[in-house]
Amino acid sequence: MSDNPGNGVDRRDFMIAAIASAALAAEAGAANAQGTTPSPASMVPAMPQGTAYTGDVIDGKKVVSALDVNDLEPGQKHLLYFQGVEMPTGQHWYVSVTVAKGAKPGKRGVLTSGVHGDEMSSVHTVQTVMNQLDPAQMSGTVMAVTDVSRPALESMQRRWPNQGRGIDLIDMNREWPGNENGATAPSRHAGLLFNRLLRPNADFAIDFHTGTTGFEVTGFNVGGMDVPEVKAMVELYPVGQIFDNHVYPGVLHNAFMDVGIPSFTPEIGAARVLDREMVSLFVEGTMNVLKHHGMIAGPMGRTGKDVTVFVGNSAFPILATAGGLVEHLVKLNDKVEAGQKVAIQRNSFGEVVAEYTSGVAGEITGQRSDAMSEPGNPLVFILFNKATPEGVEVYPE
Ligand SMILES: [Zn+2]
Repeated sequence: MSDNPGNGVDRRDFMIAAIASAALAAEAGAANAQGTTPSPASMVPAMPQGTAYTGDVIDGKKVVSALDVNDLEPGQKHLLYFQGVEMPTGQHWYVSVTVAKGAKPGKRGVLTSGVHGDEMSSVHTVQTVMNQLDPAQMSGTVMAVTDVSRPALESMQRRWPNQGRGIDLIDMNREWPGNENGATAPSRHAGLLFNRLLRPNADFAIDFHTGTTGFEVTGFNVGGMDVPEVKAMVELYPVGQIFDNHVYPGVLHNAFMDVGIPSFTPEIGAARVLDREMVSLFVEGTMNVLKHHGMIAGPMGRTGKDVTVFVGNSAFPILATAGGLVEHLVKLNDKVEAGQKVAIQRNSFGEVVAEYTSGVAGEITGQRSDAMSEPGNPLVFILFNKATPEGVEVYPE
């Protein structure tokens, strides 16, 4: 930690900034009420930050509070820590930053994982891609942050255990692009990362995820296939499903999309485990993306053209109507028909208390992997095509 005596001043500045931002928000609200349209986030250009070294070194790695990859030595890999949000103890959550800075100029790609803390195959995918890169042979720069939601990763759980007003668990993939003066630590952490690390260094970005604890998914990519730059990247993955949908506001890939940076989200199987077979497919696809952008040389690997890909624009959820043990009658990636029975559920006596059928024809994309369920839990998601998609689509992530 820095012993900077100016810390007290920083804190007051923070408070003043927070008050000013609340006042601005109130003004914006009033302006909205009068029918004035405020500038959308996409109109605000990325602040030129440059690189700011804090002077701290952790485990031999320099700490930055802002990064511009253009400032780094070409032809090398750089391992840094980024100073994230401040904790109640006054210390910070640091995230790891790996930069492969090519010898030649070119596109800048950002790879992230760990926005949810229980999604280990996504971390391993990013690490594997970075380990395959040789900056001396590269054009452009790949930056990786594998542990975005540090406190969630420390306990290998999905959500950030926030301490602000008593403990509550916050899904960091509803917080983006964040707010440096936001009300919660994850919102401030998201704001710091997005403004000072991720956005300024991205010409394209991929935010890797998996299913969640208790609910596993197959391998698929989530993205808006109506955006040509996104479609071109997603189709380079040799994986069997694409969820063609813009999904929720507040997810990291949509924060990039909102400021004009093409982005999508791979979902890499089950949470908590390393699915090496599935990881290798997403590594191959990501290396293809880097080739597509002219950043690395070599022939394309397998792509979507080499496998059978099912593209759906909606995910049909089946929710439990009873408590009990769930028996799946189908497997991930199975094709199902409308009306087909996909799961049954038994009570403590072994009596069948519920039977679940698909409402659509499609492919199984996610299944509850915890065998016990209470009413209301999602049991199955079926990827399918809706004639007229409406509103925000729920999906397993
Ligand atoms: Zn996730």
